[in-house]
Parts: sequence; structure tokens; C-alpha cells
Amino acid sequence: MSSSPRISRRTAIRGAVLVGVGAAAAGGTVLTSNLAHADAARPTIASCAEWGARSPRGLTQLTNNPNKIVIHHTATSNSAGTTKQDAYNLAYQIQGWHMNPPNNWADSGQHFTISRGGYVMEGRHTSLQHLDDGRGMVQGAHAPGANSNGIGIENEGLFTSALPPEALWNSLVDFCAYICSQYNIPATEIFGHRDYVATACPGDALYAKLPQLRTEVKAKLDGGGGDPPDFSVIVDNTAGDFGASESWGTSTYSSQKHGSDYRFAQPEAVSDAAYFRANIPAAGNYKIETWYPADPGYNAATPFIIYTANGNQTVKVDQRTGGGKWVSLGTHALTAGNKSVVAVSRWAGGSGYVVADAIRVTSA
Ligand SMILES: [Zn+2]
Repeated sequence: MSSSPRISRRTAIRGAVLVGVGAAAAGGTVLTSNLAHADAARPTIASCAEWGARSPRGLTQLTNNPNKIVIHHTATSNSAGTTKQDAYNLAYQIQGWHMNPPNNWADSGQHFTISRGGYVMEGRHTSLQHLDDGRGMVQGAHAPGANSNGIGIENEGLFTSALPPEALWNSLVDFCAYICSQYNIPATEIFGHRDYVATACPGDALYAKLPQLRTEVKAKLDGGGGDPPDFSVIVDNTAGDFGASESWGTSTYSSQKHGSDYRFAQPEAVSDAAYFRANIPAAGNYKIETWYPADPGYNAATPFIIYTANGNQTVKVDQRTGGGKWVSLGTHALTAGNKSVVAVSRWAGGSGYVVADAIRVTSA
């Protein structure tokens, strides 16, 4: 998320997926949900035959189901047309890049492609049949570390700073919901290419939207969900809804603090989190923010654990900067009830203090 892309748009789609094999851990997501998906509607999906794909050279069929979705951008032009024919041309072009020298792959590397006009297309042959069956998958060539258990989706555009057009985004949400529904994949298990290998893909702008994508897909799977009633609460560390052990020090030092003081602790691999509770009025999507004083000596990656309806999600915050204001931890689906919503973990790297000061939860 930090640097500008080091991979040119052409190599990004042509071959960079092969660089740097090694599966990085995919975010700090801990899965706890059980699955009770509503059947998400099947969007229109053009098969390889419909868009006129070349024949593949030989594909590896897997009996396991995929357990995740991996989001890519094509790193092609953002000004391309939005017609069905434009979409089919794109799919054909990508297949050529992947099958021709120097790649010489068996077929399109990705399982599916979505155009800027919102057309969903099969990428690698047999991906669609597996998906409609909800059984097995064809091994992909889109992200080392996720090719045998992740469905790869190429989204047309270069999303380093530009965002996907609305038609593409809506199709992506609908299509991810269908994939999750068919394979019983939780909406939390949607990742970016860069979660697996060093790459700019799917671009900083689209990568930053993945929490929203998970939230919107979850809402579809829950049958539409619906917005919670207007609600906002601030929980300061001095409130009764805050809890931390005596290992957490108390300080009034920083002028950037929220309220009268804040709590801090040394990073250590111990289960000794500081907890913020809130009484969530109804299940739905909520924006969650934190307030902390910043200091150059504080932790560069303080883990904030969000107790979402889909399991725990960890959001790391650089507490060296950005203090004295509300900092977003993303929008998350929460269940109703009076319970812990956010924890600040001491299980952080480095030596700088982790700081717990205040959170704000607002209906999204
Ligand atoms: Zn990619």
C-alpha cells in the first residue's frame, strides 16, 4: 500500500504473477463464522465459448473446492470501451498474453475476468462449470500461493489511484457473492494479489476497497441485510466499557489524547489485550474508528482486532503518526449485542508502545 508500483502495467499482467513464489500470510483474518449463506443470484457469465477463446493446451483439474477469492487488476487502460464486444476483446487479448511467448501458459491465468462495462467472463476453461456445480476447480496461474485454492478475478483497469467504475464494482460484488454462495466461502476470504506475492496488483485504490467489498458481499449473502438504525457511540479508555490489565500503563502526557488520559503497553507476545465494549443496537454495517495520541516512539503496526460478524479481523495502525483525530479501522459487519467490539493487542512487532485511547462506532 505504500510504494508506487514497481511493476509496469504490461509485465503486471503478462508474467509478474510468476515472480517471487511464496505464500505470504493473507492478512490477520481469523475465521470463526459458520456458514449459513442465502443463495446469491447467479449473474450472467460469458463462457470461454461465448467470447471466442482459443483452446487450452492442458489444464490441471482439482477435486478440492477453493476457499478464497483473489482480486487482481488487469493494469490495462482505464479509458477502454464498456460494450460487450469490448469485454470479449479484453478476454481474448489477455488469453493471448498468457498463452503466447514468453509466458506460454496453458490458458488464461485467471479464472474469471470482469470488464469496465461490468461483463463477467470465464477466463480459464472449465472454471465456469466448476463454479456452477459448486464442486472442484481448475488450477489457476494468477497468484503463486493461491492458484490451487483461490479463484482469481481480473478486473479491467489500472487501480493504483483510480477506482473501478460503478458497473464493474457492482458486478464484482454480485459475482463474489455468487462464488461465496456456490463454494460456501466466507466473505472475509477475499484478498488482493499482493497478499500473496510482491506486486502492486490490484492497485492501492482497489486494494483499499477490499474491506468494503467483503462487507457488501456479506450483506448479499445475508439476504440483503439492511442498514442498521442511526447510531454512534464513543468509548474512551476511562469508560466502564473499557478494560485492560494492570500491565497497561496510564498516561496524561500527550496533548493529542482523547479525554483525560490513555493506556499504553509494551509489545509482547501475550494475550493481554485492551478491550472496548459497545452496545450494538442491531446487526449491520458499522464504521469503526480509533483515536490515539501519536509519537515517533510508538508502535508502527499496532494490531486492532475487530470482532465482526464474520470473525475476527486485524487492522494494523501506525501509531507513530496520524494522532489526535479519528482514524478509520474500516467498515465492518457487526452482530447486535453488548460485547467487545475492538481490542488493542500487545502481540505487535517492534519495541514501540501500543496505545489504547478511544474508539467510535457509527452505523454505516
Ligand atoms: Zn494480480
